[in-house]
Amino acid sequence: MQRQLQVVIALAVFAVCGFAQPTGEIGVLKVQGNVYMLVGAGGNIAAQVGADGILVADTGTEAMAPQVAAALKKLSSKPIAWVIDTNIDSDHTGGNAALPKLVGGGAPGARPRIVAYENVLNRMSAPPTGNLPQAPDALWPNDEYAMASKDFSFNGEAIIVHHVPAAHTDGDSMVHFRRSDVLVVGDVFTPGRYPVIDVARGGSIQGEIDAVNEILRITVPLKYQEAGTYVIPGHGRLCDEADVVEFRDMVTIVRDRVRNLKSKGMTLDQVKAARPTRDYDTEYDAKEGDAFVEAVYKTLDGNK
Ligand SMILES: [Zn+2]
Repeated sequence: MQRQLQVVIALAVFAVCGFAQPTGEIGVLKVQGNVYMLVGAGGNIAAQVGADGILVADTGTEAMAPQVAAALKKLSSKPIAWVIDTNIDSDHTGGNAALPKLVGGGAPGARPRIVAYENVLNRMSAPPTGNLPQAPDALWPNDEYAMASKDFSFNGEAIIVHHVPAAHTDGDSMVHFRRSDVLVVGDVFTPGRYPVIDVARGGSIQGEIDAVNEILRITVPLKYQEAGTYVIPGHGRLCDEADVVEFRDMVTIVRDRVRNLKSKGMTLDQVKAARPTRDYDTEYDAKEGDAFVEAVYKTLDGNK
């Protein structure tokens, strides 16, 4: 995997989630209502724009902030008033400080509200452990929440931030733009890639499955209907409910296979050798299959 120098520096600050790193181009796609999807800044970014200003769900890497700011300025001349972080990874939170500054337009020195589940702030502000140094405080959320969800309105639209426990990490959020009917789901759903379950930061297979089912509870099918919910994944293409169903089925079937093999007393190496992801490896990224199987094995039935 090719990584830019800046990303290597970002990695030294705190871990990214293991997906492909940006190459320098930002793609902008109008999704639905007043929500746009920006691709190419690390994790996908969702932007909601209107008379009140700009809200972004995720901010990409710090290195890509100038390109993202240029793309946002074409959508709106207003400042960023809200940031929502779907998880702690630096390809989702790296632009938390740089991006609003570069977009500008607000009161001098003003910071946007930066919303995240409280575990994101707890982990960013914790003393360094192992290879996870403390994140710079300019990146920390300043509007963390600890309940199951948080809601507010912006640009005349209801916005609901849902926490999904112990999935990709223990600090994952999904963002539903209710009138636009667009759901931003972060790294709990990654079409064409096995999910990254970050066991060291509180991820688990059962939380992952619960999170994907929560997406399906909120979304309405798009195909064959006038209206439906669009799903913006943490990485990869714009999706709809049918794409999430396929992914949920894969994750659940692999979980069941690993559980079955483990219940026979097989070690992790033996389970990996049995290749429980084999028939999915052409559709999902085969080289990430082992890491997925390992995370499933380690977190099955609450084991850590
Ligand atoms: Zn990610």
